[in-house]
Amino acid sequence: MIEAASRVILSTYTLPPDKLEKAIHLSHWRAALYFGGVAWTILILWALVRWGLGERIGRWASSITPKPWLQGFLVGPVWLVILALIDLPEETVSHAVSLHYGLSVQRWPGWFSDWGVSSLLLILFGTLAFTCVYALMRRSHRHWWIWLWLLTIPVEVAGIFAVPVFIDPLFNHFSPLEKTDPALVAQLERVVARGGIDIPPSRMFLMDASTKSTGVNAYVTGFGASKRVVVWDTTLKLASIDEILFIYGHEQGHYVLRHIVKGLLFSLLLFLIFYWIAFRLLRRLVGCRWSPWRIRSLDDWASVGLVLLVMTLLSFIAEPMGNAFSRRIEHQADVYGQEVIHGLVADPQQVAVVDFQRLGEIWLENPSPNRFVEWWTYTHPSTSERLKFAANYDPWSEGKEPRYFRSEVRNGITLAPSQNHGNHSIRTARFPIRRVGFFPRRSRNSSFPENR
Ligand SMILES: [Zn+2]
Repeated sequence: MIEAASRVILSTYTLPPDKLEKAIHLSHWRAALYFGGVAWTILILWALVRWGLGERIGRWASSITPKPWLQGFLVGPVWLVILALIDLPEETVSHAVSLHYGLSVQRWPGWFSDWGVSSLLLILFGTLAFTCVYALMRRSHRHWWIWLWLLTIPVEVAGIFAVPVFIDPLFNHFSPLEKTDPALVAQLERVVARGGIDIPPSRMFLMDASTKSTGVNAYVTGFGASKRVVVWDTTLKLASIDEILFIYGHEQGHYVLRHIVKGLLFSLLLFLIFYWIAFRLLRRLVGCRWSPWRIRSLDDWASVGLVLLVMTLLSFIAEPMGNAFSRRIEHQADVYGQEVIHGLVADPQQVAVVDFQRLGEIWLENPSPNRFVEWWTYTHPSTSERLKFAANYDPWSEGKEPRYFRSEVRNGITLAPSQNHGNHSIRTARFPIRRVGFFPRRSRNSSFPENR
């Protein structure tokens, strides 16, 4: 009786008036920066292409070397520097906004050095990508997009494997959680055991997010030997152990429910469709009689600007599809997170609700975001939706079966989730995963490019 009376679960995400005002303004800034940034990029690229810059750069490259593949190493970097500079104003304003609202604590020199590093990576990998794309275009005018797609598969897999090992340490420091917080590892291992899986403590890392951000987060990344769970150090300071277990349980859900593989397959499907659309669109744009672009053929290096323009446009259009998929798997991970901590914490509903409330306040999440902006840009369901679901999700008290831990109700004992048979050793995982965080970071500008 007493327990029931004292157990009042908040079911609506709300903010105190001062934070609410900030959160609403911040969501306006984010939407304006995102849509404005894309419009700006498209406009400037279009103007440069229309002005014939592609042809000038192409001519300059061919005056230096007659070999088309070598020309790519001149044309690619020039266009990618231009692209980085086009995006710079939006990224700068985004960082200023993050500083203003207290979400970032990174000073400008450090921010510019991060921007420099990520721009260098863009130039390096972008140039390699262009060299491959144009080599394929020269070899097969009609089928280059299929070859490109086949090449994308191993590149995506290798990229997902390499990012946590080679790229992430360029931006943040990671230390084994076992060394920094062995007590927490012991707690997390309880969640691992209940999930019936095998995530050794050596795969858990702490990231020094506090040098750059005031936010709280965690994510899963890598695959095979590089697969790992990363917890931001800010999380340890700002959330209770039970709340961390829920955040971690959500991450474990991404592991167990194979979200990284599903995400990869989904993105490869999108790539296939969009490469085909790009192929048709570019052929039409370059081939038409009134073509203002001064581009002889698509495999001519003069077309790079036009290819970048079409890519920007298509990835903008792909955004709502990718995000709808992302919101779906994030919801599944929320359900799993709440189920996996059942029996480990006193009140899973309460823990999840407090978590969402706390993180919403820290990240200044708007309680009632614009529906269109949410549909187009949100990688996670809104905080209001997540909190409302968590507050009402209690299959055990209603005598219903939990979604992922079905065997529990029948046997009264804890077993691995029914659809997985405990077969998820991360040591033997064969499929790549994408990074899937607990909380969204929607700003395109970010000191944490992996969370874009
Ligand atoms: Zn997640």
